[in-house]
Amino acid sequence: MTTAIEQTVETYGIENWGAGYFDVNRKGNLIVRPAEGDPRSADVKEIVEDLARRGITAPILLRFPQLVAAQVRKLQRAFSKSIREFEYQGAHMCVYPMKVNQQRSVVEEYLREGSRYDFGLEAGSKAELYAAMALEQSADSLLVLNGFKDEEFIQLGFAGAKSGKRVVIVIEKLSELDHILRIAETHEGNSPMIGMRVKLYSKGSGRWEKSGGEAAKFGLTTTELLEVINRLKEAGQIDMLRLLHFHIGSQLTDIKRIKNAMKEAARVYAKVYQMKAPIELLDVGGGMAVDYDGSKTAFDSSANYSAQEFANDVIYTIKQVCDDENVPHPTIIQESGRFLSAYHAMLITNILEEIETVVEDITPIEIDEDDPQVVIELGDLRETITIKNYREYYHDALEHREELFTLFNLGLISLEDRAKGEVLFWDVCERADRYAQQSKYVPEEFGDLRKLLCAKYLANFSVFRSVPDHWALDQLFPIVPIQSLNKTPTEFATLCDITCDSDGVVDKFVDLHDVKQVLELHKLDPDEPYYLAFMLVGAYQEAMGNNHNLFGAPNEAHIHIDEEGYLIKKVIRGTTVGEAAGRARYERGLLHDGFRRQVTQRIKDGELSEAEGSELVNFYESRYDAYTYIAVNGNQVKGRRRHDY
Ligand SMILES: *Cc1c(COP(=O)(O)O)cnc(C)c1O
Repeated sequence: MTTAIEQTVETYGIENWGAGYFDVNRKGNLIVRPAEGDPRSADVKEIVEDLARRGITAPILLRFPQLVAAQVRKLQRAFSKSIREFEYQGAHMCVYPMKVNQQRSVVEEYLREGSRYDFGLEAGSKAELYAAMALEQSADSLLVLNGFKDEEFIQLGFAGAKSGKRVVIVIEKLSELDHILRIAETHEGNSPMIGMRVKLYSKGSGRWEKSGGEAAKFGLTTTELLEVINRLKEAGQIDMLRLLHFHIGSQLTDIKRIKNAMKEAARVYAKVYQMKAPIELLDVGGGMAVDYDGSKTAFDSSANYSAQEFANDVIYTIKQVCDDENVPHPTIIQESGRFLSAYHAMLITNILEEIETVVEDITPIEIDEDDPQVVIELGDLRETITIKNYREYYHDALEHREELFTLFNLGLISLEDRAKGEVLFWDVCERADRYAQQSKYVPEEFGDLRKLLCAKYLANFSVFRSVPDHWALDQLFPIVPIQSLNKTPTEFATLCDITCDSDGVVDKFVDLHDVKQVLELHKLDPDEPYYLAFMLVGAYQEAMGNNHNLFGAPNEAHIHIDEEGYLIKKVIRGTTVGEAAGRARYERGLLHDGFRRQVTQRIKDGELSEAEGSELVNFYESRYDAYTYIAVNGNQVKGRRRHDY
């Protein structure tokens, strides 16, 4: 017999997408482990309640830096195992692409663990490079510079090399070579190495397919590649050329495409080597996918391979081609970002209430013979609907509703009649939905009805700030309650955020076989807060999150998991109301002066007393430090009884 906990673990797919980091304890709370199979764990609900006592309320971004370290180890182990198994002669190193999550705490944790394996950094802009240059890296690790570069960017790269870092400037377009050669003429001390980014014919798969292929935005064409080699030779600088780079996109879902790209890239590498260039590093880019829905398929939010399979295919393919071409095996550089950082962060939000969307009976409906015929008929449908006739009765109800509105628009029925009719109509729908779900085969129209009838839970967060990829790309993130996981969820719901935007909703959820239209959740209890966690949001979401409605960054806490449970290492307050306004250039002084001026005028006009005026001004100014999200005090959840069958 399966227990309720085993059932909810399955409902939310925790084992499928959790990579061994997440589970449920006996209390029915979500827990986090610092590594797969680690006996230590932290209870997320306890952490959230602890933070609430310190005044840190939801939404809260919880960071578990140990999970970055665990992913680093997982990746490193996978590659070292393949290298041993296939007797590959080169090494493997990572450079973490800063753009995936530039937060200092994330990058520092990555370097703390990664330095043991000479893992370095990748920067794609001047600001990222500026930040990276100050961080301690191991002596042999690389600092790879990608992206379009002006002369200043390249100068900064030269400065990094002079300061002792192993910098590789990857040429994305020919003009960058001109800058490099000019600066190199007068540069003294360590010089950076040069890499070339190639445009592969092979494409990736999934949402970022167009990052690869001939029409890609980045990379040198074959003629440009030859041009770079020739010009470096002419300038006597061919020794600078050490790396070949490609990147065919993020979240690569299909291992076959990856293998094809590796084959092509290894071939280009071998040919360049044979042109007497001292090339030794093959940078295979990022793109290792995270299995967000846990389905292990080539679906956009998944991946049909494990880290070990990925490593095996990369190592084996490159070895084959290099042996065939008789060139030494290169050191493989990998720019995985999403894979390393996605797991470490979760966004905790609290459900504020259930939003009513369908008409509901506030007082029980009484039908009498004076009611219009259409209301009486809807009442009859409600009384006599059964599992045998529900489809027919549902269609009848749809017709009656049309008639109801027609009669109303003609002025033939009253507002009260209309209200009665609407309530009866939705009652029929709810009953039809119940019968549909009981039958073996659920007709399609009832799938849509379910979505219409399902509850809408108002969650205290902004989709645009905290899971922008859900809004922009339909990317799925697993969502789990952090409590009550020892109870079977009885409601079906979609989520609405607190922005004034109808796009601020979450109505697609992870599922093993499909995409769920509604999420199983628990009935809200007016006396207990109900928290949800948006999982695996550590990659891209923070950097891409925007300021829609000026909500700004949520509260943040860094958690260390140890034998005793957890340690809250750091708390960072979210954006305040004043800071959020400031982002749109409303400086504090300007706002406070502006408000005070208006109040002063009201006092002069005799509309406010001095005391009232100064109280008003004080209140306004004190709001500068308020949290931008919904403040909750005491009993914040308003539950409503619905779907009572
Ligand atoms: C974005 C990017 C990456 C990171 O890709 P992931 O899918 O996060 O691993 C690596 N290399 C380059 C050049 C990129 O632009």
